Amino acid sequence: AANPLAQFVQGPRGAALDAYWMPFTANRQFKKNPRLFVKAQGMHYWTDEGRQVLDAVAGLWCVNAGHNRPKIVQAIQQQAAEMDYAPPFQMAHPKAFELADKVAKLTPAGLNKVFFTNSGSESVETALKMALAYHKVRGEGTRTRLIGRERGYHGVNFGGISVGGMVANRKQFGAMVSGVDHIVHTHDPKRNAFSMGQPEHGAELADDLERLVALHDASTIAAVIVEPVAGSTGVLVPPKGYLNRLREICDKHGILLIFDEVITGWGRTGNPFGAQTFGVTPDIIVMAKGLSNGAVPMGGVAVKQHIHDAFMNGPEHLIEFFHGYTYSSHPLACAAALGTLETYADEGLLTRAGELSAYFAQAVHGLRGEPNVIDIRNIGLVAGIELSPIAGSPAKRAFDIFLDCYEKGVLIRTTGDTLALSPPLIIERSHIDQIIDTVRGAIRRHA
Ligand code: PLP
Repeated sequence: AANPLAQFVQGPRGAALDAYWMPFTANRQFKKNPRLFVKAQGMHYWTDEGRQVLDAVAGLWCVNAGHNRPKIVQAIQQQAAEMDYAPPFQMAHPKAFELADKVAKLTPAGLNKVFFTNSGSESVETALKMALAYHKVRGEGTRTRLIGRERGYHGVNFGGISVGGMVANRKQFGAMVSGVDHIVHTHDPKRNAFSMGQPEHGAELADDLERLVALHDASTIAAVIVEPVAGSTGVLVPPKGYLNRLREICDKHGILLIFDEVITGWGRTGNPFGAQTFGVTPDIIVMAKGLSNGAVPMGGVAVKQHIHDAFMNGPEHLIEFFHGYTYSSHPLACAAALGTLETYADEGLLTRAGELSAYFAQAVHGLRGEPNVIDIRNIGLVAGIELSPIAGSPAKRAFDIFLDCYEKGVLIRTTGDTLALSPPLIIERSHIDQIIDTVRGAIRRHA
Protein backbone atom coordinates (compact mmCIF):
# COMPACT_ATOMS: atom_id res chain seq x y z
CA ALA A 1 0.00 0.00 0.00
CA ALA A 2 1.14 3.55 -0.68
CA ASN A 3 2.73 5.24 2.29
CA PRO A 4 0.17 7.89 3.36
CA LEU A 5 2.96 10.07 4.72
CA ALA A 6 5.11 9.90 1.60
CA GLN A 7 4.32 13.51 0.78
CA PHE A 8 5.70 14.64 4.16
CA VAL A 9 8.54 12.25 4.64
CA GLN A 10 11.30 13.00 2.17
CA GLY A 11 14.67 11.41 1.64
CA PRO A 12 15.81 9.76 4.86
CA ARG A 13 12.42 10.62 6.47
CA GLY A 14 13.84 13.94 7.56
CA ALA A 15 13.51 17.22 5.76
CA ALA A 16 9.80 17.90 6.16
CA LEU A 17 9.84 16.93 9.83
CA ASP A 18 11.88 19.99 10.71
CA ALA A 19 9.28 22.62 11.55
CA TYR A 20 7.45 20.76 14.30
CA TRP A 21 9.02 21.32 17.75
CA MET A 22 7.74 18.25 19.54
CA PRO A 23 6.57 18.34 23.18
CA PHE A 24 8.36 16.28 25.86
CA THR A 25 10.39 14.60 23.12
CA ALA A 26 14.03 14.00 22.33
CA ASN A 27 13.55 15.95 19.07
CA ARG A 28 16.92 15.26 17.46
CA GLN A 29 16.80 11.55 18.20
CA PHE A 30 13.21 11.31 16.98
CA LYS A 31 13.78 13.09 13.70
CA LYS A 32 16.65 10.77 12.80
CA ASN A 33 14.30 7.82 13.02
CA PRO A 34 10.67 8.97 13.34
CA ARG A 35 7.94 6.88 14.89
CA LEU A 36 4.66 7.78 13.20
CA PHE A 37 1.18 6.43 13.80
CA VAL A 38 -1.40 6.83 11.07
CA LYS A 39 -4.28 4.59 12.13
CA ALA A 40 -5.78 3.12 15.30
CA GLN A 41 -8.43 0.58 16.21
CA GLY A 42 -9.28 -1.08 19.52
CA MET A 43 -6.02 -2.11 21.24
CA HIS A 44 -3.79 -1.24 18.29
CA TYR A 45 -2.01 1.43 16.34
CA TRP A 46 -0.58 1.13 12.83
CA THR A 47 2.60 2.90 11.80
CA ASP A 48 3.13 4.71 8.50
CA GLU A 49 5.12 1.65 7.44
CA GLY A 50 2.02 -0.48 7.99
CA ARG A 51 3.24 -2.18 11.17
CA GLN A 52 0.70 -3.06 13.89
CA VAL A 53 1.63 -1.89 17.41
CA LEU A 54 -0.18 -3.04 20.55
CA ASP A 55 -1.00 -0.03 22.73
CA ALA A 56 0.10 -0.76 26.31
CA VAL A 57 -0.31 2.85 27.52
CA ALA A 58 -3.74 3.87 26.18
CA GLY A 59 -2.08 6.45 23.95
CA LEU A 60 -0.82 8.62 26.79
CA TRP A 61 -2.86 7.17 29.69
CA CYS A 62 -6.04 8.50 28.06
CA VAL A 63 -7.63 6.13 25.53
CA ASN A 64 -9.29 4.05 28.26
CA ALA A 65 -12.08 2.65 26.06
CA GLY A 66 -9.67 1.67 23.29
CA HIS A 67 -9.24 3.38 19.94
CA ASN A 68 -11.85 4.60 17.46
CA ARG A 69 -14.84 3.26 19.33
CA PRO A 70 -18.01 3.58 17.21
CA LYS A 71 -20.16 5.57 19.66
CA ILE A 72 -17.42 8.12 20.19
CA VAL A 73 -16.67 8.42 16.48
CA GLN A 74 -20.36 8.86 15.64
CA ALA A 75 -20.92 11.41 18.40
CA ILE A 76 -18.01 13.50 17.12
CA GLN A 77 -19.09 13.25 13.49
CA GLN A 78 -22.69 14.22 14.27
CA GLN A 79 -21.70 17.12 16.48
CA ALA A 80 -19.22 18.48 13.95
CA ALA A 81 -21.95 18.57 11.32
CA GLU A 82 -24.61 20.01 13.64
CA MET A 83 -22.93 22.84 15.55
CA ASP A 84 -19.24 23.70 15.54
CA TYR A 85 -19.02 25.99 18.51
CA ALA A 86 -21.08 27.77 21.14
CA PRO A 87 -19.66 30.37 23.53
CA PRO A 88 -19.42 29.06 27.10
CA PHE A 89 -19.47 32.50 28.77
CA GLN A 90 -23.02 33.73 29.42
CA MET A 91 -24.23 31.12 26.87
CA ALA A 92 -24.27 27.35 26.69
CA HIS A 93 -25.43 24.30 24.78
CA PRO A 94 -27.43 21.33 26.11
CA LYS A 95 -24.68 18.72 25.97
CA ALA A 96 -22.59 20.64 28.53
CA PHE A 97 -25.34 20.21 31.15
CA GLU A 98 -26.00 16.61 30.18
CA LEU A 99 -22.31 15.78 30.51
CA ALA A 100 -21.83 17.60 33.84
CA ASP A 101 -24.84 15.72 35.23
CA LYS A 102 -23.45 12.36 34.10
CA VAL A 103 -19.95 13.12 35.42
CA ALA A 104 -21.36 14.25 38.77
CA LYS A 105 -23.20 10.92 39.10
CA LEU A 106 -19.92 9.02 38.71
CA THR A 107 -17.77 11.08 41.07
CA PRO A 108 -17.81 10.22 44.80
CA ALA A 109 -20.93 11.31 46.70
CA GLY A 110 -20.86 15.01 47.49
CA LEU A 111 -18.80 16.11 44.51
CA ASN A 112 -21.67 17.29 42.38
CA LYS A 113 -20.59 20.47 40.58
CA VAL A 114 -18.46 20.17 37.47
CA PHE A 115 -16.39 22.83 35.67
CA PHE A 116 -14.96 22.07 32.20
CA THR A 117 -11.52 22.76 30.74
CA ASN A 118 -9.47 21.40 27.83
CA SER A 119 -6.66 19.50 29.50
CA GLY A 120 -5.25 18.16 32.71
CA SER A 121 -2.99 21.17 33.09
CA GLU A 122 -5.92 23.57 32.77
CA SER A 123 -7.91 21.50 35.23
CA VAL A 124 -5.08 21.77 37.76
CA GLU A 125 -4.91 25.55 37.40
CA THR A 126 -8.69 25.73 37.71
CA ALA A 127 -8.71 23.64 40.89
CA LEU A 128 -5.93 25.67 42.51
CA LYS A 129 -7.70 28.94 41.66
CA MET A 130 -11.00 27.58 42.97
CA ALA A 131 -9.32 26.65 46.25
CA LEU A 132 -7.76 30.08 46.68
CA ALA A 133 -10.94 31.91 45.71
CA TYR A 134 -13.10 29.67 47.90
CA HIS A 135 -11.24 30.73 51.03
CA LYS A 136 -11.31 34.35 49.91
CA VAL A 137 -15.08 34.47 49.29
CA ARG A 138 -15.59 32.90 52.72
CA GLY A 139 -13.56 35.66 54.34
CA GLU A 140 -10.48 33.53 55.03
CA GLY A 141 -8.27 35.29 52.52
CA THR A 142 -5.12 34.53 54.51
CA ARG A 143 -5.25 30.98 53.16
CA THR A 144 -3.07 31.60 50.11
CA ARG A 145 -0.55 28.79 50.39
CA LEU A 146 -0.72 25.73 48.13
CA ILE A 147 0.90 22.45 49.14
CA GLY A 148 2.03 19.83 46.64
CA ARG A 149 4.16 16.74 47.03
CA GLU A 150 7.65 15.80 45.93
CA ARG A 151 7.57 13.70 42.74
CA GLY A 152 4.08 15.00 41.94
CA TYR A 153 3.06 15.79 38.36
CA HIS A 154 0.29 18.29 37.83
CA GLY A 155 0.76 19.32 34.24
CA VAL A 156 2.98 22.01 32.85
CA ASN A 157 1.42 25.38 33.59
CA PHE A 158 2.90 27.64 36.25
CA GLY A 159 0.60 26.61 39.08
CA GLY A 160 1.02 22.96 38.19
CA ILE A 161 4.81 23.01 38.00
CA SER A 162 4.94 25.00 41.23
CA VAL A 163 2.96 22.46 43.25
CA GLY A 164 4.51 19.69 41.14
CA GLY A 165 7.61 17.92 42.33
CA MET A 166 9.44 16.70 39.25
CA VAL A 167 12.69 18.59 39.14
CA ALA A 168 13.22 18.34 35.37
CA ASN A 169 9.88 20.06 34.79
CA ARG A 170 10.83 22.94 37.10
CA LYS A 171 14.50 23.71 36.81
CA GLN A 172 14.44 25.29 33.32
CA PHE A 173 11.83 27.85 34.24
CA GLY A 174 13.10 29.93 37.13
CA ALA A 175 10.54 31.56 39.35
CA MET A 176 7.52 29.53 40.41
CA VAL A 177 4.21 30.63 41.89
CA SER A 178 5.09 31.94 45.33
CA GLY A 179 3.79 30.57 48.61
CA VAL A 180 4.04 26.92 47.63
CA ASP A 181 5.51 24.11 49.68
CA HIS A 182 5.74 20.32 49.36
CA ILE A 183 5.24 17.29 51.54
CA VAL A 184 7.57 14.32 51.11
CA HIS A 185 6.88 11.67 48.49
CA THR A 186 5.86 8.14 49.39
CA HIS A 187 8.40 6.16 47.37
CA ASP A 188 10.21 3.83 49.78
CA PRO A 189 11.75 0.89 47.93
CA LYS A 190 13.74 -0.22 50.99
CA ARG A 191 10.52 -1.15 52.78
CA ASN A 192 8.07 -1.58 49.91
CA ALA A 193 9.86 -2.93 46.82
CA PHE A 194 7.78 -5.41 44.80
CA SER A 195 4.57 -4.67 46.72
CA MET A 196 1.50 -6.07 44.99
CA GLY A 197 -1.05 -3.29 45.03
CA GLN A 198 -0.87 -0.85 47.94
CA PRO A 199 2.41 -0.96 49.91
CA GLU A 200 2.21 -1.82 53.62
CA HIS A 201 4.53 0.88 54.89
CA GLY A 202 4.30 4.65 54.81
CA ALA A 203 0.90 5.87 56.10
CA GLU A 204 2.87 8.03 58.54
CA LEU A 205 4.44 9.97 55.64
CA ALA A 206 1.16 11.92 55.49
CA ASP A 207 2.15 13.41 58.83
CA ASP A 208 4.60 15.56 56.91
CA LEU A 209 1.64 17.83 56.32
CA GLU A 210 1.59 18.47 60.09
CA ARG A 211 5.19 19.63 59.77
CA LEU A 212 4.15 22.22 57.17
CA VAL A 213 1.19 23.30 59.28
CA ALA A 214 3.56 23.79 62.21
CA LEU A 215 5.90 25.80 59.97
CA HIS A 216 3.39 27.98 58.08
CA ASP A 217 0.26 27.77 60.27
CA ALA A 218 -2.99 26.29 58.96
CA SER A 219 -4.47 29.78 58.59
CA THR A 220 -2.13 30.36 55.61
CA ILE A 221 -2.80 27.08 53.79
CA ALA A 222 -5.54 26.85 51.17
CA ALA A 223 -5.17 23.35 49.77
CA VAL A 224 -3.09 20.23 49.34
CA ILE A 225 -2.92 18.61 45.91
CA VAL A 226 -1.76 15.02 45.31
CA GLU A 227 -2.25 12.32 42.73
CA PRO A 228 -3.85 9.31 44.45
CA VAL A 229 -1.34 7.23 42.44
CA ALA A 230 1.55 9.32 41.15
CA GLY A 231 1.68 8.37 37.48
CA SER A 232 4.23 10.31 35.47
CA THR A 233 6.82 10.03 38.22
CA GLY A 234 6.88 6.26 37.96
CA VAL A 235 3.56 4.79 39.19
CA LEU A 236 3.82 5.31 42.97
CA VAL A 237 0.91 3.59 44.66
CA PRO A 238 -0.18 5.15 47.97
CA PRO A 239 0.75 3.15 51.09
CA LYS A 240 -2.19 1.66 52.98
CA GLY A 241 -3.80 4.31 55.15
CA TYR A 242 -1.78 7.18 53.68
CA LEU A 243 -4.61 8.98 51.86
CA ASN A 244 -6.96 8.51 54.83
CA ARG A 245 -4.37 10.13 57.08
CA LEU A 246 -3.95 13.03 54.65
CA ARG A 247 -7.73 13.50 54.64
CA GLU A 248 -7.83 13.56 58.46
CA ILE A 249 -5.09 16.17 58.70
CA CYS A 250 -6.77 18.37 56.08
CA ASP A 251 -10.06 18.13 57.95
CA LYS A 252 -8.42 18.97 61.25
CA HIS A 253 -6.95 22.17 59.81
CA GLY A 254 -9.63 23.31 57.35
CA ILE A 255 -7.38 22.62 54.35
CA LEU A 256 -8.99 21.57 51.06
CA LEU A 257 -7.82 18.22 49.69
CA ILE A 258 -7.47 18.07 45.91
CA PHE A 259 -6.97 14.76 44.11
CA ASP A 260 -5.40 15.07 40.69
CA GLU A 261 -7.10 12.12 39.00
CA VAL A 262 -6.01 12.91 35.46
CA ILE A 263 -4.55 9.39 35.25
CA THR A 264 -6.36 7.55 38.05
CA GLY A 265 -9.78 8.80 36.89
CA TRP A 266 -12.02 6.97 34.47
CA GLY A 267 -11.54 3.39 35.50
CA ARG A 268 -7.77 3.04 35.75
CA THR A 269 -7.82 1.61 39.30
CA GLY A 270 -11.06 -0.41 39.07
CA ASN A 271 -13.58 2.30 39.92
CA PRO A 272 -14.57 5.48 38.12
CA PHE A 273 -12.13 7.38 40.36
CA GLY A 274 -9.17 6.47 42.54
CA ALA A 275 -11.00 8.18 45.41
CA GLN A 276 -13.49 5.31 45.33
CA THR A 277 -10.82 2.61 45.09
CA PHE A 278 -8.94 4.03 48.09
CA GLY A 279 -12.09 4.99 50.01
CA VAL A 280 -11.04 8.59 50.54
CA THR A 281 -13.14 11.50 49.29
CA PRO A 282 -11.32 14.73 48.43
CA ASP A 283 -12.98 18.14 48.21
CA ILE A 284 -11.98 18.61 44.59
CA ILE A 285 -11.20 16.12 41.81
CA VAL A 286 -9.13 17.14 38.80
CA MET A 287 -9.78 15.06 35.67
CA ALA A 288 -9.02 14.95 31.93
CA LYS A 289 -7.71 12.23 29.58
CA GLY A 290 -10.23 9.35 29.93
CA LEU A 291 -13.10 11.83 30.25
CA SER A 292 -13.21 12.08 26.46
CA ASN A 293 -11.10 8.98 25.75
CA GLY A 294 -8.44 11.23 24.27
CA ALA A 295 -10.59 11.70 21.17
CA VAL A 296 -11.09 15.45 21.66
CA PRO A 297 -9.14 17.42 24.28
CA MET A 298 -11.16 17.87 27.47
CA GLY A 299 -10.67 18.27 31.20
CA GLY A 300 -12.89 18.88 34.17
CA VAL A 301 -12.94 19.77 37.85
CA ALA A 302 -15.55 18.28 40.20
CA VAL A 303 -16.13 20.01 43.54
CA LYS A 304 -18.23 19.59 46.62
CA GLN A 305 -21.50 21.48 46.74
CA HIS A 306 -20.42 23.78 49.56
CA ILE A 307 -17.38 24.97 47.62
CA HIS A 308 -19.54 25.95 44.69
CA ASP A 309 -22.21 27.45 46.94
CA ALA A 310 -19.70 29.68 48.71
CA PHE A 311 -19.41 31.60 45.43
CA MET A 312 -23.17 31.99 44.89
CA ASN A 313 -23.53 35.28 46.74
CA GLY A 314 -23.90 38.90 45.72
CA PRO A 315 -26.04 40.36 42.94
CA GLU A 316 -27.32 37.65 40.62
CA HIS A 317 -26.31 39.42 37.43
CA LEU A 318 -22.63 39.36 38.40
CA ILE A 319 -20.12 36.67 37.47
CA GLU A 320 -19.26 34.59 40.53
CA PHE A 321 -15.96 32.98 39.47
CA PHE A 322 -13.66 34.92 37.17
CA HIS A 323 -12.21 31.99 35.33
CA GLY A 324 -12.90 29.92 32.21
CA TYR A 325 -11.65 29.09 28.74
CA THR A 326 -12.93 29.93 25.25
CA TYR A 327 -13.19 26.20 24.73
CA SER A 328 -14.61 25.17 28.13
CA SER A 329 -17.34 22.60 27.41
CA HIS A 330 -16.64 22.72 23.67
CA PRO A 331 -19.50 20.99 21.80
CA LEU A 332 -17.15 18.53 20.11
CA ALA A 333 -15.50 17.63 23.42
CA CYS A 334 -18.86 17.22 25.15
CA ALA A 335 -20.09 14.98 22.35
CA ALA A 336 -16.92 12.89 22.54
CA ALA A 337 -17.21 12.62 26.32
CA LEU A 338 -20.88 11.59 26.15
CA GLY A 339 -19.97 8.91 23.60
CA THR A 340 -17.14 7.85 25.91
CA LEU A 341 -19.33 7.55 29.02
CA GLU A 342 -21.86 5.54 27.01
CA THR A 343 -19.11 3.19 25.86
CA TYR A 344 -17.81 2.82 29.43
CA ALA A 345 -21.34 1.99 30.62
CA ASP A 346 -22.19 -0.41 27.79
CA GLU A 347 -19.05 -2.45 28.39
CA GLY A 348 -18.61 -2.10 32.15
CA LEU A 349 -15.20 -0.58 31.57
CA LEU A 350 -15.06 1.57 34.70
CA THR A 351 -14.85 -1.54 36.87
CA ARG A 352 -13.02 -3.80 34.43
CA ALA A 353 -9.56 -2.90 35.79
CA GLY A 354 -10.63 -4.44 39.09
CA GLU A 355 -11.66 -7.66 37.37
CA LEU A 356 -8.37 -7.94 35.48
CA SER A 357 -6.04 -6.59 38.14
CA ALA A 358 -5.11 -9.94 39.69
CA TYR A 359 -4.12 -11.38 36.31
CA PHE A 360 -2.32 -8.18 35.37
CA ALA A 361 -0.48 -8.07 38.72
CA GLN A 362 0.70 -11.68 38.38
CA ALA A 363 1.88 -11.06 34.85
CA VAL A 364 3.75 -7.85 35.67
CA HIS A 365 5.31 -9.26 38.84
CA GLY A 366 6.47 -12.18 36.70
CA LEU A 367 9.21 -9.78 35.55
CA ARG A 368 10.74 -9.87 39.01
CA GLY A 369 14.18 -11.44 38.76
CA GLU A 370 14.80 -10.22 35.21
CA PRO A 371 18.06 -8.30 34.77
CA ASN A 372 18.16 -4.83 36.38
CA VAL A 373 14.54 -4.95 37.60
CA ILE A 374 14.71 -3.32 41.05
CA ASP A 375 11.02 -2.72 41.77
CA ILE A 376 7.57 -3.46 40.34
CA ARG A 377 4.51 -1.46 41.38
CA ASN A 378 0.89 -1.94 40.32
CA ILE A 379 -2.75 -1.20 41.03
CA GLY A 380 -5.77 -1.81 38.80
CA LEU A 381 -4.52 -1.66 35.23
CA VAL A 382 -1.45 0.47 35.77
CA ALA A 383 2.07 -0.66 36.55
CA GLY A 384 5.61 0.64 36.87
CA ILE A 385 8.67 -1.52 36.35
CA GLU A 386 11.74 0.22 37.73
CA LEU A 387 15.17 -0.60 36.36
CA SER A 388 18.59 0.17 37.73
CA PRO A 389 20.07 2.97 35.62
CA ILE A 390 23.12 2.57 33.43
CA ALA A 391 25.94 4.18 35.42
CA GLY A 392 26.33 7.77 34.24
CA SER A 393 23.38 7.55 31.81
CA PRO A 394 20.13 7.85 33.73
CA ALA A 395 16.96 7.03 31.72
CA LYS A 396 18.99 5.48 28.87
CA ARG A 397 18.26 1.84 29.69
CA ALA A 398 14.52 2.46 29.91
CA PHE A 399 14.53 4.50 26.70
CA ASP A 400 16.38 1.77 24.81
CA ILE A 401 13.85 -0.77 26.09
CA PHE A 402 11.01 1.50 24.96
CA LEU A 403 12.51 1.64 21.44
CA ASP A 404 13.06 -2.12 21.44
CA CYS A 405 9.43 -2.81 22.47
CA TYR A 406 8.22 -0.44 19.76
CA GLU A 407 10.25 -2.29 17.14
CA LYS A 408 8.75 -5.53 18.44
CA GLY A 409 5.21 -4.15 18.18
CA VAL A 410 4.32 -2.90 21.68
CA LEU A 411 3.99 0.75 22.75
CA ILE A 412 5.03 1.36 26.35
CA ARG A 413 6.09 4.55 28.14
CA THR A 414 9.06 5.46 30.25
CA THR A 415 9.72 7.98 32.96
CA GLY A 416 13.30 8.08 34.15
CA ASP A 417 14.31 4.43 34.41
CA THR A 418 10.77 3.21 35.07
CA LEU A 419 8.73 1.49 32.37
CA ALA A 420 5.04 2.35 32.66
CA LEU A 421 2.11 0.24 31.49
CA SER A 422 -1.41 1.67 31.43
CA PRO A 423 -3.34 -0.16 28.71
CA PRO A 424 -6.85 0.52 27.42
CA LEU A 425 -9.41 -1.04 29.76
CA ILE A 426 -10.72 -3.26 26.94
CA ILE A 427 -7.49 -5.26 27.14
CA GLU A 428 -7.71 -9.08 27.01
CA ARG A 429 -5.46 -11.53 28.83
CA SER A 430 -3.71 -12.47 25.61
CA HIS A 431 -2.71 -8.81 25.16
CA ILE A 432 -1.34 -8.72 28.70
CA ASP A 433 0.74 -11.81 27.89
CA GLN A 434 2.04 -10.23 24.69
CA ILE A 435 3.01 -7.02 26.49
CA ILE A 436 4.85 -8.84 29.26
CA ASP A 437 6.64 -11.21 26.85
CA THR A 438 7.77 -8.27 24.73
CA VAL A 439 8.93 -6.24 27.72
CA ARG A 440 10.76 -9.28 29.12
CA GLY A 441 12.60 -9.82 25.84
CA ALA A 442 13.59 -6.16 25.65
CA ILE A 443 14.78 -6.10 29.27
CA ARG A 444 16.99 -9.14 28.55
CA ARG A 445 18.35 -7.66 25.33
CA HIS A 446 19.38 -4.52 27.24
CA ALA A 447 20.89 -6.23 30.27
N1 PLP B 1 -2.03 15.83 36.10
C1 PLP B 1 -1.63 14.56 36.02
C2 PLP B 1 -1.68 13.68 37.22
C3 PLP B 1 -1.18 14.04 34.80
O1 PLP B 1 -0.76 12.79 34.73
C4 PLP B 1 -1.17 14.90 33.68
C5 PLP B 1 -0.71 14.39 32.37
O2 PLP B 1 -0.17 13.31 32.25
C6 PLP B 1 -1.59 16.21 33.82
C7 PLP B 1 -2.01 16.65 35.06
C8 PLP B 1 -1.55 17.17 32.68
O3 PLP B 1 -2.48 16.86 31.73
P1 PLP B 1 -2.39 17.54 30.27
O4 PLP B 1 -1.18 16.97 29.62
O5 PLP B 1 -3.69 17.13 29.62
O6 PLP B 1 -2.32 19.00 30.45
